[in-house]
Amino acid sequence: DSTVTTWTWFKGEWHEGNPNIMGPQTHGVWMASTVFDGARRMNGKMPDLHPHCARVIRSANLMGLKPAITTDEIVALAKEGVKKFDPELALYIKPIVYGGEGFLAPVPESAQFVLCISVSEMPEAVQTGFSARKSSFRRPSPESAPTEAKAACLYPNVGRAVTEAKNDGFDTGVMLDPIGNVAEFSYANLFFSKDNVVYTPAINGTFLNGLTRQRVITLLRKDGVEVVEKTCVYSELETADEIFGTGNYYKVAPCVKLDERALQPGPITRRAQELYTAFAAASAD
Ligand code: PMP
Repeated sequence: DSTVTTWTWFKGEWHEGNPNIMGPQTHGVWMASTVFDGARRMNGKMPDLHPHCARVIRSANLMGLKPAITTDEIVALAKEGVKKFDPELALYIKPIVYGGEGFLAPVPESAQFVLCISVSEMPEAVQTGFSARKSSFRRPSPESAPTEAKAACLYPNVGRAVTEAKNDGFDTGVMLDPIGNVAEFSYANLFFSKDNVVYTPAINGTFLNGLTRQRVITLLRKDGVEVVEKTCVYSELETADEIFGTGNYYKVAPCVKLDERALQPGPITRRAQELYTAFAAASAD
């Protein structure tokens, strides 16, 4: 039925739409033993599908959770789910793994985890540009939270930063790490360029090492662009030539306004977009 906009895998079968997957006894609800990931089908291709599915398990492990679920199982279900839609539709693929029913506090056993996959129609990534302001909220320290995981428990903090930015007329926030260096945009990784060299915060455990980030670094370097992963301070953004974000939401998009300063999408951002688009088009999945 091509009018269905979401299919959800839950309890061993595909459901049209959004079945109730959680209730008052679900550990993932009240104790947030929940990890998820998000991938896209764009122009018929699912770039980096396998690493997105593998990251679900990695995120759980970073939280000390050991779900009895495999990457291959998630990949196979994602591929099955997208077949329920017309082949040209743009889709969002969201696997979720969480502690199931019963009094499982504080940590569910391996067999008590549930896998759910939701596949929905979603417009293609908007890559024209976004505005950002410095957030007053920081990423938590790795000692206090599984900050490198795509864990649901981290997203209220992302939400605070986005709400603050939107209330101020911006699309998103620039989040600092616990000691005040630049970490990432609220829900995308951050890059900037100065004199034709590209910089991005080095992985320090306080933010997600995005799959798009890793892919764009590899693609730019292969194309001969110098990309430096280092500790970045906010004042460098204020004098950058270009700033762009990477992630499953934007894929690659320019930051066109930082605080009160307007920025132009430049040649490096455009090159990163072209390289990513070509990579996605050549994807095996
Ligand atoms: N940081 C955060 C907090 C995110 O939620 C995302 C989106 N997954 C990213 C960065 C970008 O990661 P990816 O490129 O793997 O989508």
